[in-house]
Amino acid sequence: MTDHSEDRAASLSHLRRAHLARGDAVPLPLEMASMFHLPGDPAGARQYGRYDNATWTGLEEALAHLDGAPCLAFPSGMAAISAIFLSLLKAGDRVLLPADGYYTVRVFAERFLKGYGIEHELRPTAAFAEGGFEGFRMVYLETPSNPGLDICDIAAIATDAHAQGAIVVADNTTMTPFGQRPLELGADILVAADTKAPNGHSDVLFGHVATHDEAALAALKEWRKLSGAIPGPFEAWLVHRGLETLEVRFARMCQSAETIAPRLAAHPAAKAVRYPGLPGDPAHNLAATQMLRFGSLIGLTLKDAETAERFIDGCRLIQPATSFGGVHTSAERRARWGDAVEPGFVRLSIGCEPTEALWDAVNEALEKM
Ligand SMILES: *Cc1c(COP(=O)(O)O)cnc(C)c1O
Repeated sequence: MTDHSEDRAASLSHLRRAHLARGDAVPLPLEMASMFHLPGDPAGARQYGRYDNATWTGLEEALAHLDGAPCLAFPSGMAAISAIFLSLLKAGDRVLLPADGYYTVRVFAERFLKGYGIEHELRPTAAFAEGGFEGFRMVYLETPSNPGLDICDIAAIATDAHAQGAIVVADNTTMTPFGQRPLELGADILVAADTKAPNGHSDVLFGHVATHDEAALAALKEWRKLSGAIPGPFEAWLVHRGLETLEVRFARMCQSAETIAPRLAAHPAAKAVRYPGLPGDPAHNLAATQMLRFGSLIGLTLKDAETAERFIDGCRLIQPATSFGGVHTSAERRARWGDAVEPGFVRLSIGCEPTEALWDAVNEALEKM
């Protein structure tokens, strides 16, 4: 796949230029407004803060530039995901979900979709392309899966699922537009939690949907307007600010992860290491063809739960925290949430610290195990 990341990153910084009149602010303005000046016929103007906001529009333009398709902003990753389910599925439809993807998606399906007459089935990410897609209205995949970092073949799944009349949704949170291009691989709808690397500073929750499917986009937009699940303008403004440095941050994060993962794999304290960039990783060959980078998440299995907790808490450059993709390296033991991983499995989110300084701190903490 041709990598246009550099062109995209370079032109992102100048996207707004086409809209600017003499004397306008160069950076994106923050529009805090529920009310707009609206005398007479309301058609063709901004009407109300639940329908429209100039800061959302500025952010959506930037997101669309990066994902290569029209975008809609949502107040969190889950708000974007639930909007997809609730605006595009109806009673009697079936949806295929990853058994090992973002946990809340499965809980949402069980707790709410079922009650609306929408049934779901679970399939492990590593085997997601197998078993066919007959009878599914929607095939929802996540690759690499969070937290196990298994990978599925987006192009193969899209071809087979489309042959069965299903719509294909890809959660691209773990990779960002600079790491993986699901829409170019054949997915119909991309969804992402901008809470993670796109915002990147761990101070905002946010999400978005990107798609070329005009009917789906219209349904999602109507859902957002009518349900009231709208993003705050200030959060949109912060995410826009984060996006402007995403390329440089993600490059550092991936480069550090690519350097650190093999060193962890060679370390006697590591029981196992999962990272798509490791040549021996079960996901490596597919990752090398499907992804532009190998990502910033590493799955590190230590001896047991206690060792893992001591490592996480004892490393001076690791924040013990859930979530990932921030400028600061962070980690957590996923079994504490009930994920189907070993008790000593640590999801390590590599941040933007200089690579060798970070490795020194990680190595120092491992030596104490
Ligand atoms: C975090 C995350 C989400 C949900 O995002 P929120 O902003 O927390 O609602 C969805 N999918 C994946 C893969 C995630 O990591």
